[in-house]
Amino acid sequence: MVLDHMEADDDVRKVFEEPQYIHQKDITIVRDDGTEVSYPSFRVQFNNARGPYKGGIRFHPAADLEEVKALAALMAIKTAVVDIPFGGSKGGIQCDPKTLSKTELERLSRAYIREMKDHIGPYVDCPAPDVNTNPMIMGWMRDEYEKMTGKFAPGVVTGKPLEYGGSLGRDTATARGGYFILEEVMERIALDPKEQRVAIQGFGNAGAAIAKLLHDRGYTIVAISDSKGGIYSKEGIDPVRIKKYKEKTGHVRGYYCEGSVCDLGRMKIDNAELISNEDIITCDCDILIPAALDNVITRENAKEIKAEIILELANGPTSPEADTILEERGIRVIPDVLANAGGVTVSYFEWTQGRSGEKWTEGHVDDELKRIILDAYRDVRREARREGVSYRMAAYLIGVKRMVQTMKARGWVNGNGM
Ligand code: NAD
Repeated sequence: MVLDHMEADDDVRKVFEEPQYIHQKDITIVRDDGTEVSYPSFRVQFNNARGPYKGGIRFHPAADLEEVKALAALMAIKTAVVDIPFGGSKGGIQCDPKTLSKTELERLSRAYIREMKDHIGPYVDCPAPDVNTNPMIMGWMRDEYEKMTGKFAPGVVTGKPLEYGGSLGRDTATARGGYFILEEVMERIALDPKEQRVAIQGFGNAGAAIAKLLHDRGYTIVAISDSKGGIYSKEGIDPVRIKKYKEKTGHVRGYYCEGSVCDLGRMKIDNAELISNEDIITCDCDILIPAALDNVITRENAKEIKAEIILELANGPTSPEADTILEERGIRVIPDVLANAGGVTVSYFEWTQGRSGEKWTEGHVDDELKRIILDAYRDVRREARREGVSYRMAAYLIGVKRMVQTMKARGWVNGNGM
């Protein structure tokens, strides 16, 4: 659709049909009990016209080649939307990390780098955290890469631990980027944050951090969920208490229950009710923030959504059919390639610090993130007005046009794509 809108020529279309490279390997590790287990793993490099490939690695049972390919393409567009000098890629290991011990997880993370080491590097392809991966895993990955290559290579991965080349502000960057945009939207359409009720699906790196930012700003968090289910309270939920509880017990909804089985009759706090991950999408709220997995807003539930604003912190949470329905219904969607681009933006700052040896303050990271993400938001808003299209289409148009401009400058394509 984007390429049709641009009336792109065939050579331009061809570039966007398939990733430049697909690397697939089965990774075998020894489990703590001495048995061996293998997992399919992937690294998909979509396009590197604008700079080294960049994209997260997820550990998840549903991480298959199709999913990783789609996410790699999104990354190429996202880095272009925020105009940072990277291309787009994505990685995944098809596994359930929750069944692995810490030592097994470390073996798996290091084995992935050994398999992929010839395809990654600070100026080649730089992985980062995604679903079920975190700074500890990024630290192991950098260490393994440096051991294998014998080189100091802080830029090989981002999202590292602070004490091993990480950047201040990276842990909350995805949420902060979304928060800055939401605040700008509130101001533009003259809405008072204190009157906004927010539902958040996913309580990990992205979801938990935005819940805290919005709660501190006075928004009412009416619903929160994780993979085991969620809770809804008209009176509002304090995400800080939930985080502490989740750290202790491993799940969100147990906070409101006694014992191991949630029992509606024994709710303890804020008149909260249990809610399923399906129902959280259509619950009574003003702002919906999907911050977990892809394809959760579907043709079936898009008609029932009550929120007026959707901030896509997750990658690919809305199916194309659902997107059309949301547009027809006039629901304002801040698309993933813009809404969650704060993460890759601060990854870029981390990569820059790794190259220069400088250490940025948290304030500097924050100021630069705000400048870049709001510039991108304003570009998207202008493009949407000019072309009469949705924010998603406008963001894609900007991203693809920037990629095509660079590919033309490099002599990779000649055809129309502007
Ligand atoms: P995470 O692993 O830290 O958290 C994921 C959360 O989703 C957890 O709370 C988990 O319990 C929950 N979850 C898993 N399955 C679920 C289900 N079926 N229903 C509801 N919740 C479920 O991951 P994250 O880094 O916060 O990533 C979340 C989303 O944000 C992903 O789509 C990711 O691609 C996107 N994203 C993350 C970053 C980043 O910097 N971490 C950057 C850009 C985009």
